[in-house]
Amino acid sequence: MSDFDFLGLAPETMRAINEAGYTSPTPIQAQAIPSVLMGKDIMGIAQTGTGKTASFTLPMIDILAQGRARARMPRSLILEPTRELAAQVAENFETYGKYHKLDMALLIGGVSFGDQEKKLDRGVDVLIATPGRLLDHFERGKLMLSGVDILVCDEADRMLDMGFIPDVERICSLMPQKHQTLFFSATMPKEIKRLADKFLKEPKLIEVASPASTGENIEQFLCTMKTSEARAKRDKLREIIEKEDVKNAIIFCNRKRDVDILFRSLKKHGFSAAALHGDLDQSVRMDVLASFKDGTTRLLIASDVAARGLDIPAVSHVFNFDVPSHAEDYIHRIGRTGRAGLTGRAFTITTPADDKWLKNVHDLIGKKIDPIEKAGHSRGSESAAETPASSEEAAPKKRRRRSKKSDTDKAANSDEQTHQESKPSQAKRASRDNSRQPKERGGRRSRDDFEPVVGMGDHMPAFMMQPTAEKPAKKKTTRRKKTKETA
Ligand code: AMP
Repeated sequence: MSDFDFLGLAPETMRAINEAGYTSPTPIQAQAIPSVLMGKDIMGIAQTGTGKTASFTLPMIDILAQGRARARMPRSLILEPTRELAAQVAENFETYGKYHKLDMALLIGGVSFGDQEKKLDRGVDVLIATPGRLLDHFERGKLMLSGVDILVCDEADRMLDMGFIPDVERICSLMPQKHQTLFFSATMPKEIKRLADKFLKEPKLIEVASPASTGENIEQFLCTMKTSEARAKRDKLREIIEKEDVKNAIIFCNRKRDVDILFRSLKKHGFSAAALHGDLDQSVRMDVLASFKDGTTRLLIASDVAARGLDIPAVSHVFNFDVPSHAEDYIHRIGRTGRAGLTGRAFTITTPADDKWLKNVHDLIGKKIDPIEKAGHSRGSESAAETPASSEEAAPKKRRRRSKKSDTDKAANSDEQTHQESKPSQAKRASRDNSRQPKERGGRRSRDDFEPVVGMGDHMPAFMMQPTAEKPAKKKTTRRKKTKETA
């Protein structure tokens, strides 16, 4: 008997849980599962890493086992802020629902409408969607929401950050009178509280400690710089990486364009690196994540939005190239390391311009981050780079001539935040630069082209392998003039 036996889940679900190797429920699972099975609304304050996805997918599988889906009328709807999170949830349904016959569809951007519509036409038990794509389908009359018995709004505070709340509110108001609502958010800003008050009926409030905020297994250090100059920050970052025993790391930037610039710079300096942000094609993002998970890529340079909630296995280090402008993101970022009892190290580079944000972080975590002097780096090794870990990183480090101040640096210093969408050309350029391009066969990807994907366990959900409509042939674009200043 495992502790799971007392939660009231069906034998088929228990079998899948055992096969997943889980022996006891996490606190949010222990509290949420029985209540969801009883049909109660839930307000769960929990972040990724707490097991919250299984806390709603497991009971949903049991509830949905009874009954049949009708064409275009999904029986349950799960809203996720990003495509990766949506795919991750889909993978949970595949893993835990392997002994049930549930039909599932994923409505996310970057996948053809035609394929998605065909699935909806056949009827789905579980519909996982990003809010914008869901409303697109709804407005085209391809979807009715009147048959939804269970609505899940996951990562509600991230929805807020991304400007999705009006869409979420609209979707909530399209629900039938009688349905169950499960709300999850890592934090409870006023706007989310308002939404919860409006749409939840006598919810059970479940709050679990965030693994990062309580994690004493993450050593945190602050590198204080006198200048905000991006080039100096990049130099400093490389210096820290070289002094640390970095197995793999995520480097967070506040701005998408800094993700690109830093990625190119680290590549030029011979590091194994890849970029991840919201402007990249879905297939590129999946390739990037896969290469990070299998160890091909050692450094993942990411924006908050792209990395949020991804189930990336333990990383040895997190680097904050900038202090995040939302203090809570600091906790999310450093929570990528020190997982599952392992120790991790997090370094944050701060400049005088970050003082205000840094104060917010200190207030939130309730202590001052240790100065980098406490990180145990030996003095005098400022320029003595350690031997790189992989052959790719053994590339000679060329000294490059530096111009006074380049376009890229100017761009990097602009105020554009990662949350804002930027031009598609930037996405194309970044995807071209990423070391691992998706393989194409006659313009289509076959199942064999996919490798295990980070955040999706060991396999990609089968339905995601199905070919999507062909993209129009790419127009020739004039190659963007290479900037000198990415080193
Ligand atoms: P989540 O918070 O949903 O992103 O889950 C974080 C990770 O915990 C995922 O890799 C899950 O596979 C894993 N997990 C979920 N529930 C359990 C459990 N009861 N025991 C062990 N691992 C779990």
